[in-house]
Amino acid sequence: MNKCPIMTTAAGTPIGDNQNSETAGSRGPVLMQDYQLMEKMAHFNRERVPERVVHAKGAGAHGRLTITHDLARYTRAKLFAKAGNTCEMFARFSTVAGESGSADTARDPRGFSLKFYTEEGNWDLVGNNTPVFFVRDALKFSDFIHSQKRDPATGLRDNTTQWDFWSLSPESLHQVTTLFSDRGIPATLRHMNGYSSHTYSLWNAHGARHWVKWHFKTLQGNKTLTNEEAARIAGSDLDYHRRDLHDAIARGDYPKWKVQIQLMPELDADSYRIHPFDLTKVWPHKDYPLIEVGEFELNRNPQNYFAEVEQAAFEPGNMPPGMGASPDKMLQARLLSYPDAHRYRIGINYAALPINKPHCPVNTYHRDGQTRFDDNGGGRANYEPNSFDGPAEDAAIREPPLKLHGDTGRYAMRDEIAGDDDYSQAGDLYRLMSAEQKTQLIGNLVTPLKTVPRFIQVRQLRHFFKADPDYGARVAAGLGIPINEVDCRKASA
Ligand code: NDP
Repeated sequence: MNKCPIMTTAAGTPIGDNQNSETAGSRGPVLMQDYQLMEKMAHFNRERVPERVVHAKGAGAHGRLTITHDLARYTRAKLFAKAGNTCEMFARFSTVAGESGSADTARDPRGFSLKFYTEEGNWDLVGNNTPVFFVRDALKFSDFIHSQKRDPATGLRDNTTQWDFWSLSPESLHQVTTLFSDRGIPATLRHMNGYSSHTYSLWNAHGARHWVKWHFKTLQGNKTLTNEEAARIAGSDLDYHRRDLHDAIARGDYPKWKVQIQLMPELDADSYRIHPFDLTKVWPHKDYPLIEVGEFELNRNPQNYFAEVEQAAFEPGNMPPGMGASPDKMLQARLLSYPDAHRYRIGINYAALPINKPHCPVNTYHRDGQTRFDDNGGGRANYEPNSFDGPAEDAAIREPPLKLHGDTGRYAMRDEIAGDDDYSQAGDLYRLMSAEQKTQLIGNLVTPLKTVPRFIQVRQLRHFFKADPDYGARVAAGLGIPINEVDCRKASA
């Protein structure tokens, strides 16, 4: 048998007794000088970092991305320079609204966060398993999340607050239709697609820019759970999805996703009939077909959940040269809110933790801060410019300028394009569903809607009708509300 190492305090001093506290006599009180007891209790009290406000419950795994079709024409990012390039990666999948101990099989969008450790720094793609989102302006985000999480008085999730918000926010209908469709509860994390949802950009060495949407198509096939199956599983295993991902990888059944993009030349954005930066809209495939890029595989489980999954810090602003953001209002806000959340949850030096640390040299002038655990830049210059060979900028990798027009102001995105609406794409989704999928969708909607006040039901029904009269009629029938009570003209177009 191997000899165990000697147990120590955090300072490395050997411990002689880990079973009995030091007391004044065998029946007397505990002594303050029992340093080991104090250290143990104090550390234990501080074991938790604040859970993420959203996406608290997650599962993660390591893997590898392989490029199968180069994007050299569109981006100078070295990762995409030629087919055959590979890079290590880490993925974290999550539910959105539930707390860190909540059931995996809830009806909820799934976070689909990917960190690629490229030779030019980390590329983080912080997406969802849905191609769109409930709101298109981050000014509404915290209100939206409040409406979905626990009621401040009762501490309970509340269908009324959820549907109140959705019925007052018609732009949410496309995502609501996705969420309550069969795909609203994936069978496992391996059986769902991922999407950047946002529009990002790619730019090449000549300064030409394309707008881009990323798609990650499961090669396991889309598989889903019904409400009944999900409830049964939640009753016996809250961690069903986390367990499934872990067990699949442990037995060598590595899940894979195809990586595809939609590309839009920069100037198309000015005339495209759909707002290209509206997070509640997709770009129909017939307008911008999918282009193959590569494939990724998840093939290694974390060795320590806290170190690798809980401390994984994804941020949409992490992009190597050749990749960029877009004017998508939600993306712009997320560029701030993700690193801001990490600084709060994990601390200012979160990027230096092993799970977040790039697999390439990091040369910043950041110094100090709480829990600085590397050499802190040693004796090297901590200011720039300097005369001592410190790292310097490279003008060759500046992102091309983007032409903007108009006056500063607060603009409603939907007003920008004549004829734009919040209903067509929700209707398109409804119409592409099979009869069985439509029946499931209607049932999934009617169950929670039955519990909310009638004025909210009626207001929401108007949105379903506007997306597709059959969609509205079937939900109305499920709720027992006569069609003449639902005056569609009252829903904003
Ligand atoms: P297409 O017929 O070219 O594509 C339909 C898309 O819908 C496919 O990506 C398919 O994904 C996906 N899909 C099928 N069933 C469901 C479902 N129950 N829930 C969510 N997605 C589903 O049509 P368009 O490109 O014109 O888009 C039509 C509608 O399809 C959109 O309004 C949108 O709601 C939905 N959609 C569109 C996407 C896009 O980027 N254009 C992406 C995803 C959804 P798969 O191939 O994996 O089956």
